[in-house]
Order: sequence, then C-alpha cells, then structure tokens
Amino acid sequence: MHPKIPELAAHFGVKLSERSCEDGAVYDGRTIATNCKSGYLGDHRVMHEIAHYVVSKRRQKGKPEFNLGSVYNSWEGVKYLHTRKLPLSEGDTQEFMCQFLCVLWGRAYGISVVLPSEREGSWDVVDWDGYLRYKTQEFSHSDSYQQLQWRALIRLRARGMLNRLPIAA
Ligand SMILES: [Zn+2]
Repeated sequence: MHPKIPELAAHFGVKLSERSCEDGAVYDGRTIATNCKSGYLGDHRVMHEIAHYVVSKRRQKGKPEFNLGSVYNSWEGVKYLHTRKLPLSEGDTQEFMCQFLCVLWGRAYGISVVLPSEREGSWDVVDWDGYLRYKTQEFSHSDSYQQLQWRALIRLRARGMLNRLPIAA
C-alpha cells in the first residue's frame, strides 16, 4: 500500500480494515475494506473510497457504501444491496467529486492507477490523464453530465479542496 493512503485515511478520520469486501460492503458504515476476493483492492480504489468518505454527508457516513447503493454489486462477487439510496444526481455529484479528488491526490502523491480486473482488455488507463479521459467519457451520454461536474467542482471549491492538498506531498 502506498504510504499516503493510510495517511489520508488518518487525516480524514476514516479507518481502514484488512477485512475482505467479498461478503459485504467495501465501506460497511465504519471501515473501508482494503481487500477483496483477489487480494488487495489497490491504492487507487482505496483512495477513491477515502474520497467518498470525505465528500459524503454526515448521515451517509454510518451507512454501508455511504447509502449510495452498491457500485460494486457486479464486481468480485460482492452482493451488497441497499434498500435506501440517495437521489441519483446527488450520488453522481459525489462520484464526480471523488474522481476529481483522485486525480488531484493521485498526481500529487504519485499514486498509481491500478488496472481494474473487471475491465481487463478494454481498460487502457495507465496514468491519470488516461483516467481523466476514461472518466469524462463514462457519463458523457447523460444530459446532466456537465451540470453535475460543475456542481461537483463548485462544492470542492467551496470546501477549499481544489487549491490545497489535505496532507503534504
Ligand atoms: Zn465512487
């Protein structure tokens, strides 16, 4: 694990756990699992979960997967599902905030973009430029795509998260 990952988690007050997310949630309402079926989740993924913790509202922090619904449902055998979810636009806004933070932090701290196992063969992301390209294509079919991105950026700006790093590089 990249040394900045546990530093980021400690800075934001979220605990990492070596449990596997295989039978439950990556974030179970208390800790972020660092492992799944195939072993270590990967720096990029754990950092993304930390970002979710950071951008989630207080009432989400006690809920598995931040009450966003299981984005990992079809991934690595994780079957966790929620009965309650946030409005899709709120979930997407938070997702964009996480992606922005991951690009900022990943670049600044030299954290690598790990190849997600489920997209092997079609996933050509090897650096943060590639990640940015991939992520901006992912939702481009949506009418509200640009609006949600603006909303995400405005929120991060309001929280002072675009112009300073949470921990020293
Ligand atoms: Zn996410």
